[in-house]
Amino acid sequence: MAQDLDSSAGVSPPNSAATLLTPVVVDLPHHSGLGGALSYRHTGPLPAGTLVQVPLGRREVLGIVWDAPREAADTVEPEACKPVGAVLDLPPLSDHWRALVSFAADYYRRGLGELALSVLPPELRKATPAALARRSARLARAPSPGPVAPSALPPLTPEQSAVLQDLVGLTAVQRPGDEQTASAGRPRRGAAPTPVLLHGVTGSGKTEVYLRLAQEALAQGRQVLVMVPEINLTPQLEARLRERFACHTLVTLHSGLTPAQRVNHWLQAHLGQADLLLGTRLSVMASLPRLGLIVVDEEHDPSYKQQEGARYSARDLAVYRAHLEGLPVILGSATPSLESWRHAQQGRYRLLRMPSRVGDGALPQVDLVDLNLQPRSVVSGAGGSLLSTALVAAVQERIDRGEQSLLLLNRRGYAPVLHCGACGWKSECPHCSAWRVFHKVDRSLRCHHCGAGERVPRACPACGNLDLSAIGRGTERLEEQLLPLLRGRDGGPPRLLRIDADTTRRAGSLQSQLAQVHEGDVEVLVGTQMVAKGHDFRRITLVAAVNPDGALFSSDFRAPERLFALLMQAAGRAGRDAQQAARSRMLVQTAFPTHPLVQALRQHDYEAFAASQLQEREAVGLPPYSHLAVLRVEARSIEAAQAFMAEAGAAAQATLQLLQAQQFLSAGELTLYPAVPAPMARVADLERWQMLLESASRPALQALLRQWSPQLLALREHHRAVVRWALDVDPLSL
Ligand code: ADP
Ligand code: ZN
Ligand code: ZN
Repeated sequence: MAQDLDSSAGVSPPNSAATLLTPVVVDLPHHSGLGGALSYRHTGPLPAGTLVQVPLGRREVLGIVWDAPREAADTVEPEACKPVGAVLDLPPLSDHWRALVSFAADYYRRGLGELALSVLPPELRKATPAALARRSARLARAPSPGPVAPSALPPLTPEQSAVLQDLVGLTAVQRPGDEQTASAGRPRRGAAPTPVLLHGVTGSGKTEVYLRLAQEALAQGRQVLVMVPEINLTPQLEARLRERFACHTLVTLHSGLTPAQRVNHWLQAHLGQADLLLGTRLSVMASLPRLGLIVVDEEHDPSYKQQEGARYSARDLAVYRAHLEGLPVILGSATPSLESWRHAQQGRYRLLRMPSRVGDGALPQVDLVDLNLQPRSVVSGAGGSLLSTALVAAVQERIDRGEQSLLLLNRRGYAPVLHCGACGWKSECPHCSAWRVFHKVDRSLRCHHCGAGERVPRACPACGNLDLSAIGRGTERLEEQLLPLLRGRDGGPPRLLRIDADTTRRAGSLQSQLAQVHEGDVEVLVGTQMVAKGHDFRRITLVAAVNPDGALFSSDFRAPERLFALLMQAAGRAGRDAQQAARSRMLVQTAFPTHPLVQALRQHDYEAFAASQLQEREAVGLPPYSHLAVLRVEARSIEAAQAFMAEAGAAAQATLQLLQAQQFLSAGELTLYPAVPAPMARVADLERWQMLLESASRPALQALLRQWSPQLLALREHHRAVVRWALDVDPLSL
């Protein structure tokens, strides 16, 4: 296949026998899983990993020399190849880096060049060698902050000491030929240390453990990669890292950076000028030549999984990268993913626990409000406020004491649907299988899936009835209903603040809203899951889950795991100040108070929850007891989606039989499920279908995917009404 593509590079003049053919990967416009590097002519060898500009069709594009060059076999061959253009004056990307990218491309079934180029900063593709040289020179001259006297470190808690004792020598430099003293946590030469799963409740001081390990790695002249799910939600971690390591250079990598910042930070990491890299999932593939430690904070968080393009799990790739480079990796969470938890139980990860909060901080007591016992005004399906007397009283009590409350409702907008009582009309989205959400602030109906919006109609579009009613509630309505029920500490109206995707659209608005909370300008905070994560709120002593029941009975098998993590996180926002911990509460309003999830939450018992979930998963053969891949298709009509799926399914079936005949797979080792409409069956006028593959054996599943994905690519050529298709390996949602 590489040969075919080579010839498309065009014909160039003949050249001397000393010409070398240099394999270069470029971003080909397929997500094909097609192997290859293209061959370009160059006199003299270019080291693998060198960044070059090469002609592709009529364009000059950025490419990466992928392998050692080979001598042209005959005089004809080099003529078919174009010459390498400019060679960028940067150190080559390492063998490890290329191995990581190759693995990811193969495992997640994407084109090697597509993936390799997509994880480089976009500016790098545009940069001319001259501009790049100027940029690198400027970065090199950037003044490095002078050494700062290390401020006194806080004494460690007994749990932190125990964990760090256990990890002594974890970050010791592995240099071939060095004397190696034997100590716990230290690997045999050449072997990667066992990944560490740090299970510590919120506020147990996990961050201090990361900081101490980072300090050790930095002292050895190594770089440290710290990964977080979303940087904007955790500005405090960045601040703590900067403060602790003031004499080191820290850079960040995340999607909120400007293109110029992104390329500068990337270059600083690649050139070894940055000692610490704090980043979101894309940072897992940053070039870090002196890398010595990887930390993955909140390892369970779904945002580590990329949801488009190459659908990689940055958490899993971090573990793979550590293995590849022989480095320590530490995964931290108060509610580990069930995948990681099971690895720990099997001994593949080392489990370390920090079960108590720093100082005297207790976890908040969890009280349940049984919605079955509430009056109709609270729970009636359509119009109920969902504000129980107990909830309102608890919030008022906080206000009177000068403390804060956080009300969590995972739905933004005013009401999820507008309804006509006369004819039954509902605010359906014409483009999606979803309701359009009623937003009262700007009197709009907006679809949260395709974005389509319009002004709220004055009357029912179907029958003209003037009396339309809002059904259910979102954060906007919760805020509105709460307002008259409470009084502020100064006797006036309570100071409420709502934080959700609607209130934080403008750059910087989230930061300023969080600042209001921290400064105590807010008495009651209403928000979506956005506010449940990470924030170190000091004055919140009440956290209420207003209506979490939906996720208990979701069709998504991971919904309970996600809900539990969210509620444990949210509980962790209360009583972070030790002096207030004793009177901190979490209130959970539920119609299912005896549900095992709710019971485990009451006890703050992650392990009980994990055990019950794992039991359920094992009984039905779901991850982590099996491995999944999903083929997702979006087409202009149901018929088109079905036609593609029928052929794709037949191809998978034929491949499966072939692999069985060749004894790569045994019968029954892999299950192909029939294609079905996706849970959101239509978005933006596209029909969405999916087909599930499941196997207890990862290699079996990979073997099938490897053969199947080129077939899908070929198939797509005959199905023009299929707009998009993608394989999702280890999908997070079905
Ligand atoms: P986690 O990441 O486990 O939720 P943090 O690392 O944020 O917990 O720690 C919770 C709080 O305890 C933070 O305010 C932190 O500054 C404080 N803390 C952590 N370790 C110590 C310690 N050894 N002594 C005093 N305070 C500590
Ligand atoms: Zn009507
Ligand atoms: Zn829509």
